[in-house]
Amino acid sequence: MKFKSLLTLILLLLVAVAPGAAQSAPDFARIWDDNHISRIDPSQVRHGDLNKYIDELRGTGVKVSDVGRSVAGREIRQLEFGRGPFKVLLWSQMHGDEPTATSALIDLFAYLQRNRSEAWVKSIEENLTLRAVPMLNPDGAEYFQRRNLQGIDINRDARLLATPEGRLLKRLRDEWQPRLGFNLHNQNPRTAVGESGKQATISLLAVAYDPFRNDNEMRVLGKKVCAVIHSALSPYIYGQIGRYDDSFNPRAFGDLISQWGTQVILIETGGWHRRAEMDLVRLNFIALAASLLSLADGSAERANPGVYDALPFNEGGRIYDLIVRGGTLISRNPAPNFPVIAPFSGDLGINIDRGRIEPSRRVRAQIQEVGDMSGFTGLETIDATGYHIAVGAGTIRPGIEAVLLFYRSNRAAAIDWNAPDLETKYPPDAVYRNGEWTGSKPGS
Ligand SMILES: [Zn+2]
Repeated sequence: MKFKSLLTLILLLLVAVAPGAAQSAPDFARIWDDNHISRIDPSQVRHGDLNKYIDELRGTGVKVSDVGRSVAGREIRQLEFGRGPFKVLLWSQMHGDEPTATSALIDLFAYLQRNRSEAWVKSIEENLTLRAVPMLNPDGAEYFQRRNLQGIDINRDARLLATPEGRLLKRLRDEWQPRLGFNLHNQNPRTAVGESGKQATISLLAVAYDPFRNDNEMRVLGKKVCAVIHSALSPYIYGQIGRYDDSFNPRAFGDLISQWGTQVILIETGGWHRRAEMDLVRLNFIALAASLLSLADGSAERANPGVYDALPFNEGGRIYDLIVRGGTLISRNPAPNFPVIAPFSGDLGINIDRGRIEPSRRVRAQIQEVGDMSGFTGLETIDATGYHIAVGAGTIRPGIEAVLLFYRSNRAAAIDWNAPDLETKYPPDAVYRNGEWTGSKPGS
């Protein structure tokens, strides 16, 4: 008993004398779980919703400034926190359909402002000044499109400056001259980490400031911050952190801002199979909180930039939403003058178009590849050995909608594949349509 209370006392003392600012990724995760103010899925957040979040922030004392307007006249706002010498500019959603970080920035500023007595927040407040522009492209966000309303990719407008949004970003950087910038994006959820076939849930880039990808002190610091992010996120997405293509793009903001003297860190949020959008916001929150604290308390300087250099590069085209392996593929209703194609054995690679999914707009699944799909990874993989597979109508080929009718092969001889009402006349054992399964899925 005595021993136990002595232990408790020692533990209490340890907690009391521990450096107050030390927070780990699980702490940030818990903080987000208990405190996040973003409530709707990021892909549903339009400018009006963002304004409500920002009003909430303003109510807690976050400094908010109207800094510019989009092509359609939507206000673009900047948040500010801290009074330290090290200046960090963060911007999100310059591509309108890349929304995750916007919600994370809102949650981050809400927490920082309300919890200024916590040691780690105080460390950020005293050592850094943060400015953030959530949703740089509010028009794109409204229509859930990459480009602005002029049809211009703002991230390719750093030189021409034909967009009001691009001119704004340049002005905010030039007038303030921050040391570091965080350029926050989403990438294709089918991006893989190198040859691993694993989804690149987060990809990082310490942006090069010249075509030769040289290092200078600030780029090395950028790499160290990426190493901090890697260690913060690995407990959640081990093996799912990639390195973004680091070739220099002379039209892109990240690259030119780095050249102008503000080292940019690019964070690209990809997909996380079977996880909710909000789980990605949580990862972004952890990444940003860990990065900023490491800059504030100096621990970033001790991180190993080699961790970043060793990350595998992103690879596109290796992951499909669905791979159906080993079925017998049936082409139906040949058009006049089109040869009849005999059934053949082959795999199918299918991708799903995921926009901002609204009731009026159904999911569209498309056949992307026919033939040998070995070496590719499916987020879902079906072994269709022992099945005949017909499409809704026509020949099986890339580019058509993936309406797939699965029949056990022992039924095949009795089926008239060219029957116009195939699906009702010969009910399939399973159907894949609009990205959903009905019936008994092969292999289940
Ligand atoms: Zn982007």
